[in-house]
Amino acid sequence: LVSRAARDDRSVVEVGGVSIGPDTFTLIAGPCAVETPEQTLAAARLARAAGASLLRGGAFKPRSSPYGFRGLRAEALRILAEVRAETGLPVVTEVVDSRDVDLVADWADMLQVGTRNMQNFGLLEAVGDSGRPVLLKRGMSATIEEWLLAAEYIASRGNEAIVLCERGIRTFEPATRNTLDLSAVLVAQGLSHLPVVVDPSHAAGRRDLVVPLARAAVAAGADGVMIDVHPSPADALCDGPQALGERELSELPGAIRDWATLA
Ligand code: PEP
Repeated sequence: LVSRAARDDRSVVEVGGVSIGPDTFTLIAGPCAVETPEQTLAAARLARAAGASLLRGGAFKPRSSPYGFRGLRAEALRILAEVRAETGLPVVTEVVDSRDVDLVADWADMLQVGTRNMQNFGLLEAVGDSGRPVLLKRGMSATIEEWLLAAEYIASRGNEAIVLCERGIRTFEPATRNTLDLSAVLVAQGLSHLPVVVDPSHAAGRRDLVVPLARAAVAAGADGVMIDVHPSPADALCDGPQALGERELSELPGAIRDWATLA
């Protein structure tokens, strides 16, 4: 269903009135985690000023340590809905457990399946059944074929509104958090009609690399990028070192616009 054999043209996924696909370049931005109403609204305003048309924000956070900040859960979903009403930005948020899919689908415009859950087949089927568009991140150790088969699980439930997201893979290199595999964008676009976006924030884990990698994603032909933004990165409860603050974010629109024009 998700392969080129099923469909010649590249598909466009609509999220709350915003299109993701071949004829546009979509910036998704916002805080790694929803912490407070004020922090989320400030991050959303920064994101919108940088050209974002979708707001990301973690309500249910999949953390490697059970002692990390794991999100405000239902309260965060309410905050995201308030910020959507205030800014007009449709909301993308992660769901980590199939038991929460209905709840998250009631509040969010797009459901994210994170790297750790890419092969959680029950969750994939549940988000497929939800009828909401899905942002499917590549598993950190998944091959491109496994990633596309994960998308097939969602599509096989009658939901083809799927956007693939390359977010870096595990390699031997510790200088970055993950190794951004830009060739995967091209390979996935060649094998599948689904849009493919890039998350340079979770790939690099370092804010100094985020804008250059976003530029590289544009040059490679990605359909969009997803970027962590925080009004005060030093105080972030989750992944502060990779979050862009106002200063770094100001470089982003030029980087994307110039390169999108050249591409
Ligand atoms: C995220 O986008 O908040 C996230 C946890 O990403 P990943 O699943 O890529 O680590």
